[in-house]
Amino acid sequence: MKVLFTTCCKPIPVLLGQFLSADDVSYRFVANQDLFSITAHIPYFPLHFLAQNINVPSVVLEWPTKEEFIAELKSDNYDYVGITFKCLDLYTVAEMVELIRDVSPESKIVLGGYGTLALNEPGTEYIRDNVDYICRGEGVQFMRLLLGDDISRPKICHLPPEVISIPWLSVSTRVGYILSALGCEGKCEFCATSAYAEGRVIEVMTPAEIYESMRWYYDSFHDFSQAYLMDENLLIRKDKVNELGELIRNDDRYGLSRMNYLAFGTVLATGAWEPDELLLNGVGQIWIGIESFYSYDIKKEDIDIPDLIHTLKEHGIEIQLSWIVGDDCQTPDNIDDDVEQLVALGPCTAQLAVLSAGPGTALYERLKGEGRIRPFDPKEGHLLGNNMDALHFTHEERLKIVFDTYRKLYENHGPSMMRSLKIHLNGYRHCLNSKNPYLNEAKLKYFKSEIRNTIPFAKVAAEYAPNAKVRNLMLDMEKEYVELFGPFRKTQQIAADHILKLAEKEMKRRETEDYSTLTEEPPLHKYVYPGEPIVKIPTSLIAETASSLSSRKMEAAG
Ligand code: SF4
Repeated sequence: MKVLFTTCCKPIPVLLGQFLSADDVSYRFVANQDLFSITAHIPYFPLHFLAQNINVPSVVLEWPTKEEFIAELKSDNYDYVGITFKCLDLYTVAEMVELIRDVSPESKIVLGGYGTLALNEPGTEYIRDNVDYICRGEGVQFMRLLLGDDISRPKICHLPPEVISIPWLSVSTRVGYILSALGCEGKCEFCATSAYAEGRVIEVMTPAEIYESMRWYYDSFHDFSQAYLMDENLLIRKDKVNELGELIRNDDRYGLSRMNYLAFGTVLATGAWEPDELLLNGVGQIWIGIESFYSYDIKKEDIDIPDLIHTLKEHGIEIQLSWIVGDDCQTPDNIDDDVEQLVALGPCTAQLAVLSAGPGTALYERLKGEGRIRPFDPKEGHLLGNNMDALHFTHEERLKIVFDTYRKLYENHGPSMMRSLKIHLNGYRHCLNSKNPYLNEAKLKYFKSEIRNTIPFAKVAAEYAPNAKVRNLMLDMEKEYVELFGPFRKTQQIAADHILKLAEKEMKRRETEDYSTLTEEPPLHKYVYPGEPIVKIPTSLIAETASSLSSRKMEAAG
């Protein structure tokens, strides 16, 4: 038996004529930051996760052309062809289904991913009628059941890492995804993730499995910086966070001196933690959904958001915020205040989006009843897409607010990488004064290393700052560094000078050549997976029960 997993075929959709949809960091998180905007090579993680956790051989194709896809179908006898897709890819999926039926009629077709939420829309009948299986929910469990595999055996998540870089520099950093759980019980009206999992949390990996995969990333890539734990409101599940934290703290090779991860948490869930608990559990960054300061009070209650964010930042925890424009509560009278409140929080990075009513969500149903859903067009199914009529803003106005707000964040706080540096300086000071040995030793070492690696960028950030305010912030940071660590080492000085030269060259280039945010389509990537049960989690970890782990208090060490 053999399985072919694939992304949709090229061409990869381009958003607003400016951004390659597959390079999603080019239009969110660090957008509109001049020299400091970033780009990323982002492997298609779900396919690898499936391939690594089934017991039959498989091939993963990322971004084939139609010709390459046909050639692969002809090269082997695939029993199953699995396509993971987003709403944006819907028409391409239809073409691929037709190709499979033509070239490999015996193959069973399996569809999965958030795009499946759109399969009740007009024009999707052909897809529905011609595929064999539609997976809604957790894919590994689905595929294991389909293939007669053992659904209870442990999972691994050893994915190709995402490589993030500043295009004009040859340096990059790697982050790796780990699928902790799917879905969220929050049931926010617009949320596709929650709709996909029908308002439930589907646990995917245990703390021991997550730890093993984190360890694999750090062992495999010397420049690995952070694991992204995909789990929409992980911080609300304290037992899981504490169990994972204990494994990280007691890791014998890296521990808190390197291992850290991005966790998702609502304001309410995040506010239930002491910042030191989060640090001790390996949480390096938190993604918090603000949405709007005029909405979703249910996930904020009476928490003082500025105080929460400020305290986390003071302890060395990076903050990524998401915010949307186009909700009914946002009006021309309050939108400036909404934006100003967001900007004042000074997140390291932000995901700013227009409100989208994706098929399958509660928002979609409500707006359909109100006649505010635009005619279905899959190409508008993305963070900046136009699939609904907002009460108070046109789509053009919403887009302008999004990109102006990215700019305001940059003009108030400087480049994201330097905002992270500031947080790490805070963390260093905090851990220096902590009496907890985990913080005072391992975590202190982590902050020191991050700071030493980033400080050479202070000069270029000051030189090319968008205004005097940011320039002074950058110079102050350099002064703070010298106070804490002394003058730059020779290697740091060389690095700083080198970066400055490259920046000058890039700025000159931009004077004569148009600068484009549109990155090139990646070539085909093909991966072959053996289908072995390649799980390397020590049996002792699998056997440990949640209760035995959580009964050991982390305070015991400090
Ligand atoms: S809290 Fe976040 S993940 Fe959960 S339903 Fe709301 S938007 Fe979705």
